[in-house]
Amino acid sequence: MSASSDNQRCVRRDLVASYALAALGHSEAESMKAHLPTCTECQQEYRALSAVTNTLFAWRGQSLPQSNPIWNQLVERISNQPD
Ligand SMILES: [Zn+2]
Repeated sequence: MSASSDNQRCVRRDLVASYALAALGHSEAESMKAHLPTCTECQQEYRALSAVTNTLFAWRGQSLPQSNPIWNQLVERISNQPD
């Protein structure tokens, strides 16, 4: 066995993004939750990602209203247009 790679990467690091986006299954999320406090690499990744995801979630909540009044007005105006 040769440990040639000095730049070892945590195998779970790829799952951190899914965890930050709450896209993991329950058991995976649980094991990631248990793993995070033990792994500085994943902690760093998670911290960096949660800054982005928090912004994304906040931004998503503010823009994109469920119904767009301008669009509805437009549709109404077009469908009510006399020939
Ligand atoms: Zn890790």
